Amino acid sequence: MEYRHFIGNAWKAADNGESLDVIDPSTGEPFAAIARGNAADIDLAVCAAQGAMGEALDGPWAKLSPVERSNLLFAYAKAVLDHADELAQLEARDTGKALKTARTDAAVLARYLQYYAGCVDKLHGETLPYTTGFTVLTVREPIGVTGHIIPWNYPMQIYGRSVGASLAAGNACVVKPAEDASLSILRLAEIAAETGFPAGAINVVTGLGGEAGAALSANEGIRHISFTGSTATGALVGRTAAERHCPSVLELGGKSPQLVFDDADLDEALPVILNAIIQNAGQTCSAGSRLLVQRGIYETVIERLSARFEAMRTGPSSMDLDMGPLVNKKQQTRVRAMVEDAEAQGIRVAARGKIAVEASRNGYFQEAVLFRDVPPQSRLAQEEVFGPVLAVMPFDDEAEAVKLANGTNYGLVAGVWTRDGSRGLRLARKLQAGQVFVNNYGAGGGVELPFGGVKASGHGREKGFEALYGFTSLKTIAVKHG
Ligand code: NDP
Repeated sequence: MEYRHFIGNAWKAADNGESLDVIDPSTGEPFAAIARGNAADIDLAVCAAQGAMGEALDGPWAKLSPVERSNLLFAYAKAVLDHADELAQLEARDTGKALKTARTDAAVLARYLQYYAGCVDKLHGETLPYTTGFTVLTVREPIGVTGHIIPWNYPMQIYGRSVGASLAAGNACVVKPAEDASLSILRLAEIAAETGFPAGAINVVTGLGGEAGAALSANEGIRHISFTGSTATGALVGRTAAERHCPSVLELGGKSPQLVFDDADLDEALPVILNAIIQNAGQTCSAGSRLLVQRGIYETVIERLSARFEAMRTGPSSMDLDMGPLVNKKQQTRVRAMVEDAEAQGIRVAARGKIAVEASRNGYFQEAVLFRDVPPQSRLAQEEVFGPVLAVMPFDDEAEAVKLANGTNYGLVAGVWTRDGSRGLRLARKLQAGQVFVNNYGAGGGVELPFGGVKASGHGREKGFEALYGFTSLKTIAVKHG
């Protein structure tokens, strides 16, 4: 199967006629090809999006009323649910993720679209008290054409949270999916067209990050860019956007800690702690990849978690085990190198999961690994692994726990497990993170809950109304009437 770009509700061949192989991570074999986009393809997509907006918000997309826009987004959510199985199968093959994870992703995408569909006609401004003789109001207007650089770990969910919010705000979108995860996004653009979105409202250009992605972030017609991915590429995209005064939202991953106190309910905590690092084979920006455990229960937690890690099984996405393969060879090499480096440093492995015997030797498999007594300044405690690898370390008291938790460059998510309500709240205020969960982690996704980082985890917020505001331009209108 040879996929093209999807621009202006039509399939378009790459300007240079070139394509890239799409590899099945479960086998290491190519099974399709995508177009290798360049700056000319991005220009075409931006032009199509500008056409949908029109010169004076009079294009076929921009001129829709809020209710019409909302209805289209609701219809899109329904169409996604109708195609959920097809989308999940496509995603699992393309990215290697376990089928159950891909099914959840399709459901969450539909939920994003429903949420933002419901927001469209509630996106209002304010009237502001001002000097006598004036009436002052604010209105939230679309920004224009927005760019979306989407990574390979949760393509459908990230498409939902950024493209869904941008469309709800009335913008037209140009999307550059990761070269390793383009197929679901292309199909989603096609489904949008079938649902009735006008040509140009959603455009997808596939290709390499350094070519199509770089061209998108540099394109003068792009008025806002949202990016999820590594800190290094995020800095590049942010810098390119800043040079032309284009706002950006950067979501750049983390080394998120969970703090487990002596009084925690371990029956409740341990399954959540496990899932937070195993889900999607650890390729999750908000993965709970550091576990800080109070000394009194340290050995108990290690023992109970070890049993769970040893039971973890990894295999081809079609087997739908606890984990599928990692997305590509590069990611497998990176995770393996970090595991080997930690072992070479003398960091102890407490437990390892297993790779299914049926798994192809050419697939990008990585078993779950539980490391104990991890030194806080080690690479394993400081750097994002982006694999099913958990670093556990002990602490004695609250002050030490906070110091350890805040002791990395990242600050995306944190979790606190304690039966002491005051402590939960106290720590929630002290932890440097965009989201803090007390006696839970991730809150099951929560499309309504603003999400984003501090420090090297990035800036700006996705999800919830906060994201929607970010996709609008606030205009103040001051009328002097005497
Ligand atoms: P990147 O940050 O390089 O890729 C993320 C997205 O950016 C992809 O769509 C990629 O496209 C695109 N991209 C790459 N280079 C550029 C560029 N110069 N200009 C614009 N867009 C670009 O991450 P990697 O895929 O290389 O993964 C490396 C590490 O990043 C992972 O191991 C993990 O630690 C982290 N990561 C974090 C994610 C998160 O959710 N926060 C998601 C993915 C990765 P393409 O893939 O086609 O090159």
